Amino acid sequence: MTQPLILVTGGSRGIGAATVLLAAARGWRVAFSYKENAEAANTIIAQAKALGADVTALQADVSNEADVIRLFETVEQKLGALSALINNAGMLEQQMRLDQMEVGRWQRVFSANVFGSFLCAKQAILRMSTRHGGQGGAIVNVSSAASRLGSPNEFIDYAAAKGAVDSMTIGLAKELATEGIRVNAVRPGLIYTDIHASAGDPGRVDRVKTGVPMQRGGTAEEVAEAIVWLASAQPSYVTGTLMDVTGGR
Ligand code: NAP
Repeated sequence: MTQPLILVTGGSRGIGAATVLLAAARGWRVAFSYKENAEAANTIIAQAKALGADVTALQADVSNEADVIRLFETVEQKLGALSALINNAGMLEQQMRLDQMEVGRWQRVFSANVFGSFLCAKQAILRMSTRHGGQGGAIVNVSSAASRLGSPNEFIDYAAAKGAVDSMTIGLAKELATEGIRVNAVRPGLIYTDIHASAGDPGRVDRVKTGVPMQRGGTAEEVAEAIVWLASAQPSYVTGTLMDVTGGR
């Protein structure tokens, strides 16, 4: 029997990379996308190979519709029918107050985090929904605890973008509930990845971890556990859920 196929966006580093490796270890066939860091993507391919898994990496900017269409067409041609989409690719920018931000930044943040998730969800639905002749499947959106914390003085734009991802998760779960597709979100808290360096604060997790009830940051592997479980067939009655992976924060 052919193993189910999962597509992880932004799978070259951080939470996405941990998801790629966990899914591969659990027997999924895995494809992942990355934006520009081919070296990091090759490292994940080599790590998967060491686990005995053959994963496929493709460059595609999720905020660019032509790239997203090419990504899904290539995955379909190379690997066949998709069973799960992990909308993980995301970014944030330098920490600052909202009154210091420019509109161009808001466009970049919403393009990558919101429109990227919408564009990939659309292509997945066209292939997985029973309404379109598909076999059903699962979509897992990687949101953030920022959507309910608001990220004051840091990145309210990013928090608001993740709020949009939460709303999309709830609406899409209902829209697709009779079409064989479950839609859920994982909302990570403070996780040790490169994303904090891109906000100009590489030590952010250790700086603020005393605010976490568990008194520590989380690992990408701990988030991947929740993502891969929600993508699997096990939670068959779970849809529209926003699952916090935050150490209680
Ligand atoms: P990361 O370490 O910075 O990795 C980001 C990944 O996304 C990389 O693979 C990157 O590709 C890819 N990516 C970024 N923009 C993209 C785009 N426009 N198109 C395609 N791929 C793109 O980030 P992370 O911390 O693992 O974050 C993963 C997800 O978790 C994001 O949605 C983030 O918002 C969310 N999250 C993270 C935390 C945290 O504390 N780390 C907390 C809450 C939520 P390249 O390697 O090519 O750059």
